[in-house]
Amino acid sequence: MAIILVTGGAGFIGSHACLRLLETGNEIISLDSYVNSSKNVFKAINKICELKGINHELIKIYECDILDKKSVEDIFQNSINNNKEIQGVIHFAGLKSVKESEANPHKYWEVNFGGTLNLLKVMKNFNCRKLVFSSSATIYGETNKFPIAEDSQIKPINPYGKTKAAVEQLLLDIYNSEPNKWSITNLRYFNPVGSHHSGLIGEDPKGVPNNLFPIICKVANGEIEKLEIYGCDWPTIDGTGIRDYIHIEDLVEGHKKALELMFSEKKTSYRCINLGCGHGVSVLEMVKTFEKANNCRIKKVFEPRREGDVAKTYADISLAKKILGWKPKRSLYDVCKDGWKWAKTNPNGY
Ligand code: NAD
Ligand code: UDP
Repeated sequence: MAIILVTGGAGFIGSHACLRLLETGNEIISLDSYVNSSKNVFKAINKICELKGINHELIKIYECDILDKKSVEDIFQNSINNNKEIQGVIHFAGLKSVKESEANPHKYWEVNFGGTLNLLKVMKNFNCRKLVFSSSATIYGETNKFPIAEDSQIKPINPYGKTKAAVEQLLLDIYNSEPNKWSITNLRYFNPVGSHHSGLIGEDPKGVPNNLFPIICKVANGEIEKLEIYGCDWPTIDGTGIRDYIHIEDLVEGHKKALELMFSEKKTSYRCINLGCGHGVSVLEMVKTFEKANNCRIKKVFEPRREGDVAKTYADISLAKKILGWKPKRSLYDVCKDGWKWAKTNPNGY
């Protein structure tokens, strides 16, 4: 049991992480500006807690921009004043659209890098030195070697991925500056998808979604007429792109394990760990599984390849298994069932 600051706690991954940490007896402080999320997520979290008999008063919510250092300091100070000193941080807050990062790199460097720098300065001032950081598989360069292990070349090709790689570098420098004090884990996510099995919380992208799974849900509920499949001529089993889709509940379990490890071990650590399901799934396989799980038809059409796409990517997850004692438990079928449960009952999000 610990007191954990979750930055970006209202977001897709952050909200599922808050819930899981509450379920396992931790106290949560959420910091979010709601630039890409809604405060209403906390009503849904409260509802799930009530249904499960979990004390939802153990979550404290702050509206705060991570770029506003003084406000971040106030959160740390308040927690001390309330005798609830923050012991560790999971840092989700950030911007995540590759496309937007190409159009507006300033914003991405400012929020993703500058925001993290602020957080780290405040953490150091308040003597809080346990951090789990949301990194991404986009930091890996193009490769022919699969599955992708953590020691693959780091060579991001877009500003979003570059900010994530730069933060990892910054975190390594910070760890090395006080190696006996900091414990840092960079979790490199592949493709997080699906929703909590209750269907009460899920992904609520603002604007038009770009990612496959939310688009399939919008085709299923008739909001989008058909799925445009970007490429039928990739060098893959069926010509469509292959990715490593991981159920959101498995992903956040990885965070819980990473925190538990940090709090249980005597030594400090700096680690980079992939979180994925460990195998590749094609667009057509995803569509077929969704249709089967939800007894529906997804209208689709083949379009040219999308700029910047790669044929395939999937993770080597042996390090997560070995170090965290973690492995994904949910199938692609669960992803499709749980994800649709949320999307069909909340077509307009929160
Ligand atoms: P999300 O947009 O749903 O959540 C991010 C949260 O951060 C949002 O609630 C947003 O309002 C908040 N935020 C953004 N800028 C902020 C700021 N300046 N101050 C305070 N809060 C701010 O995204 P997500 O999918 O939950 O992703 C969480 C993290 O995981 C991000 O850092 C993202 O880059 C990383 N990640 C996500 C994926 C993915 O596919 N979802 C993959 C790899 C890595
Ligand atoms: N994709 C697609 N149609 C869409 C969105 C995505 O065919 O409308 C494909 C995309 O080309 C890729 C896979 O689905 O092969 C996953 O795309 P997503 O954007 O979800 O993840 P990323 O490519 O960022 O890993």
